[in-house]
Amino acid sequence: MQATAEPIKKFVIVGGGTAGWIAAATLANIFKNTDVTIELVESAEIGVIGVGEATIPPFLETIRSLGIDEADFIKATQASFKWGIQFEDWHQLGHSYFHPFGNLGRTIDGHDFFQCWLKSKAEGDSTPLMAHSPEAVLAQHGRFFLPFNAMRTPLAAATYALHLDAVLVGKYLRKFAEQIGVVRTEGKIEQVRLRADGFIEEVQLQNGELVRGDFFIDCSGFKGLLIEEALHTGYDDWSHYLPCNRAVAVQSINVGEPAPYTIAKAREAGWTWKIPLQHRTGNGYVFCGQYISDDEAVATLLAAVDGEVLTTPRVLSFVTGIRQKAWNKNCLALGLAQGFLEPLESTAIHLVSKTLALFVRMFPDRQCDDRLVNEFNRRVRADYEEIRDFLVLHYCMTQREDTAFWRWCKSMAIPAALQKKLDFFDATGSLVPGVEELFQSTSWYAVFTGMGVQPARYNPTVDALNYPKLSASLAAGKQAILQAVLKQPSHQAFLDQYCKAPVPER
Ligand SMILES: Cc1cc2nc3c(=O)[nH]c(=O)nc-3n(C[C@H](O)[C@H](O)[C@H](O)COP(=O)(O)OP(=O)(O)OC[C@H]3O[C@@H](n4cnc5c(N)ncnc54)[C@H](O)[C@@H]3O)c2cc1C
Repeated sequence: MQATAEPIKKFVIVGGGTAGWIAAATLANIFKNTDVTIELVESAEIGVIGVGEATIPPFLETIRSLGIDEADFIKATQASFKWGIQFEDWHQLGHSYFHPFGNLGRTIDGHDFFQCWLKSKAEGDSTPLMAHSPEAVLAQHGRFFLPFNAMRTPLAAATYALHLDAVLVGKYLRKFAEQIGVVRTEGKIEQVRLRADGFIEEVQLQNGELVRGDFFIDCSGFKGLLIEEALHTGYDDWSHYLPCNRAVAVQSINVGEPAPYTIAKAREAGWTWKIPLQHRTGNGYVFCGQYISDDEAVATLLAAVDGEVLTTPRVLSFVTGIRQKAWNKNCLALGLAQGFLEPLESTAIHLVSKTLALFVRMFPDRQCDDRLVNEFNRRVRADYEEIRDFLVLHYCMTQREDTAFWRWCKSMAIPAALQKKLDFFDATGSLVPGVEELFQSTSWYAVFTGMGVQPARYNPTVDALNYPKLSASLAAGKQAILQAVLKQPSHQAFLDQYCKAPVPER
């Protein structure tokens, strides 16, 4: 037996944004020391989108799996640390909640922590759920440390991610990928040529140069130069679930120390983000153009920015949804070419890595067997649907009625799978996420609780526990987290000591 009689010998990656360079670095790392070649074509004239600065923990696994030193990467990308997301004004004006990474609490005599917390709440305990999340308490106190340095404390399993400068990430990964053999070709692709069987044969640049390949990775951004313009794959529009279709982004000078979390604040027709990096803060307003004009959105954003503004506000438009096939013939779409879900939970860069990991697991030959392509596409779609439903939860449970946008959200029709999750949670106070799902129970419980979703009951087996003992155990767990958190350095102090980035010239 052999791996295949028709191995892929040449990959062509179209686009050098975050998606393109992650793909190039990942494939080059796998195929270094082989005769497989990887060529990336990008156009400096077209440029990259240059937003996408908040990540979730799996991105660090991508960086580590490439053998990249974390501290070096942080310095080079002006990154800061993130324990989760602070949601302000989503449930009601003046109300906020935190969605942390990691896990909540500890089991008590084998009983699930969340059920114990629900029972305690039913008994009149008003301790917030987040007092039992190491990440939420660390965020609240503005602390940061590396969890493996706190092994015998309740913080040992704390999970973090990064905020980073998207343009610097591209530059870093480009250097890394070129060092391990990726060939970068500068040029604007003008034509995509197909073979008789509909597979892509080559792309032609403006200067006439032809770039041939066995397999093409479309990282060309929203337009989907190969997957859509050449292969006409089709796109499913999900705007009826997530109606925001525009965003404006601006950078500003840091005011005070960077918070170790992202802020997502609900506004009259969407929400604004605040992402603090070492050298500046990224700000943006994701909004629905049916409810607010670009000028009003820009004014709202600028009024919300704390420090001096460094860039001209840039307005972008998008259609939430997914390409009908992420993989079509000998073309895999990644990043914005694959689909778009608004950046409320910072999932886009993660989806690039996750799709690539799946591609590597199902690695094809030049034939691209339909059996694996179909299964691949089913799974990518399931990932998008899972994230879409989680995002919808942030909107549909709002109690706000102060603007037309929020009134629409409050009465919107929701996906059936989300309704099923809500019904199950109501009936049992619990959730059974799928094995490969990104958002596990902590995430759903955090957003359910933050958005005021209360189950009808908790698991009755918890009543078998002696309540004073349960209550004392919860109080001790909370206290242990707080004590351990207060021993950690501030986020700024940690950055200064461990991975201080150079001060950029302005
Ligand atoms: C408002 C907003 C906020 C976001 N925030 C986050 C976030 O916080 N976290 C997160 O994970 N993600 C976020 N994202 C998503 C994230 O920005 C993208 O997933 C990521 O940057 C990848 O983009 P890309 O590489 O697919 O596309 P792009 O950066 O657009 O790159 C496209 C590339 O294709 C090249 N190209 C295009 N046409 C041609 C041609 N004809 N010839 C040659 N080259 C060509 C371009 O030159 C460029 O190199 C956000 C997106 C938006 C819109």
